[in-house]
Amino acid sequence: MLHNIFKLLLEMKKWWVAKKQCLRYNHNMENSDRESDDVTPLDLLFSSNYTTREKRNERLDICKGCDRITFATRQCKECGCFMALKTWLKEAECPIGKWISE
Ligand code: SF4
Repeated sequence: MLHNIFKLLLEMKKWWVAKKQCLRYNHNMENSDRESDDVTPLDLLFSSNYTTREKRNERLDICKGCDRITFATRQCKECGCFMALKTWLKEAECPIGKWISE
């Protein structure tokens, strides 16, 4: 149990760092009028931030078919986020626009 909590916290820390990289990437994108999404790993703690299972699976299926994913960890090479987790959040979005927030 403690081991699983530690693993989750470690995963969240990695995602938090990756999120900062993602925001920097979005900020540096030329000619982009898209706003950066505001999701953080802490949003996973509140079920009100979650989308439906159908929407999450739809997003994850898109990621699984994307050439920008590292399949073993399901980590996006564009933003560094862990897509098995990020796809649950309503306000999350793909950094290159393959799927959008609700
Ligand atoms: S978030 Fe976008 S770029 Fe990243 S793996 Fe998913 S579909 Fe590909």
